[in-house]
Amino acid sequence: MNPDKILQRAERCVCKSCGGKLEPRIIIYNKYGGSGLELYCNRCQKIEFGTEPEIYRLAKDFVYKVEFDYFVEMEQDERNLMLNIAKVCETLSWNFRKLEILDASGLKKDRLCNFDYVQDENE
Ligand SMILES: [Zn+2]
Repeated sequence: MNPDKILQRAERCVCKSCGGKLEPRIIIYNKYGGSGLELYCNRCQKIEFGTEPEIYRLAKDFVYKVEFDYFVEMEQDERNLMLNIAKVCETLSWNFRKLEILDASGLKKDRLCNFDYVQDENE
């Protein structure tokens, strides 16, 4: 991802697991010196692409209200909750992109959903 996009996402997006703020950070990928700018969540201690804050809020609300549990084999703890919220964030983001109300610059709140999107058979 280009550095400008990363900085924009750092300003706007949140961690899809914990909802926390993301910071741009230089990450060393390997001992041979490969490195790059990535978004990082300090609380989860991981590289994190992030999600729109509105999507995180919806996902969290959904997981609590519906008691959504994608990871049924897992223990019902904080980590399980965070993974479920992240899963719903991914699902919602996918849908919003398809409906053309989400793109690389964020949510398009003033745009109508395009429910008649053309299905790409190569996906
Ligand atoms: Zn996090």
